Amino acid sequence: MSTDILRNPPARTVQIVRCAGYDDALAPAFARLLDESALLEPQAVAGRRVLVKPNLLTDRTPEQAVTTHPAVLRLVIRHLKSAGARVAVGDSPASAANIRAVLERTGVGAVCEEEGVPFVSFEREGARACSVDGFEFAVAGPVAEADLVVSLPKVKSHALTKLTAAVKNLYGAVPGYGKTTLHRLYPKPDDFGRLMQAIWRVLPPTVSLADAVVGMEGQGPANGRPVRLGFLAASADPFALDIALCGILHIKPTSVPYLKGLADLHAPELSGELVDVSSFEVPVGSHLLSLLPAGLMRVAAKVLWVRPRIDAARCISCGRCLAACPVHALLRPDNKAHAIPVLRRRACVGCACCHEVCPQGAIRMVQSPALRLVHAFHGVD
Ligand code: SF4
Ligand code: SF4
Repeated sequence: MSTDILRNPPARTVQIVRCAGYDDALAPAFARLLDESALLEPQAVAGRRVLVKPNLLTDRTPEQAVTTHPAVLRLVIRHLKSAGARVAVGDSPASAANIRAVLERTGVGAVCEEEGVPFVSFEREGARACSVDGFEFAVAGPVAEADLVVSLPKVKSHALTKLTAAVKNLYGAVPGYGKTTLHRLYPKPDDFGRLMQAIWRVLPPTVSLADAVVGMEGQGPANGRPVRLGFLAASADPFALDIALCGILHIKPTSVPYLKGLADLHAPELSGELVDVSSFEVPVGSHLLSLLPAGLMRVAAKVLWVRPRIDAARCISCGRCLAACPVHALLRPDNKAHAIPVLRRRACVGCACCHEVCPQGAIRMVQSPALRLVHAFHGVD
């Protein structure tokens, strides 16, 4: 495998291996995944600058299953280093201001230190401006300058997009609050999906190794329940990997906004062990809105909406949600410093950024009654 082959054309093979836990079962499963997928072979990575990107959404422990398990990261680093790669680890957490807490609680800081590799925070390393297919965005310098990106997504449900895995982990190549700005600029789900493809096109070659040993279901990506899924998955094509995950988790790819229209172009070629998880619980998404023309969507949005609801009993008034909101739809009543945030409904674009950063699980994304009815009518699960 050469890194050029990854891009031209991207291989759509998705390799799956079963893995019972992060204990003794992990290393042999990981070795089989690399061996059978032929990804990250020593001759392809020797001497290359490889940026490893775990999912570091926010400051949670490995047991909470919000972030990539540090044991997976450790194996990836060891493999790359033994193959002669120049390795760095980096990400752009939603709560970027709290990067020290993120590194400490997730266990990623300790792994980087023990394995002797630097951690680069995307916010602090500069960015490269990109213009692709009408989309304007920035990609973090450490990602743009790498020869290869090894992405380590955590497989989780998502309040807005139903699934978050390989594709959305690469969205983290956009530094810090640039992500929330893009949510504001492209609130319509299928625009957002095209944006994801544009971002992927400008990245160096990528290999995705998904941590689905324990994933998250329910109110993901930050406030759901850990669930044992029991596998690892790898591919050079993040869209094919996510479509394969949809099959395993019984999610319709058409109900995941960023996968719309890609089922043929990125149809996965499955290889390895058969895994089937029929009871994975996902929130009902808002993708039906994306079927409407823009003018009609503006009208429909008045009755078909997804918005955050704050549980005052859980809220500790930390203010993270206010900082994360791209359109300033949350504010403190009367500008009181410790007041529980309230929502300006008309401003909210339903992006779920506030939901993702809340450390208390105090924010649920709820649908309007009309949207629930529409979903029920269309039999959307
Ligand atoms: S809702 Fe969550 S993020 Fe927002 S202030 Fe309360 S605890 Fe903090
Ligand atoms: S309030 Fe929450 S869901 Fe609404 S726009 Fe702001 S961050 Fe997005």
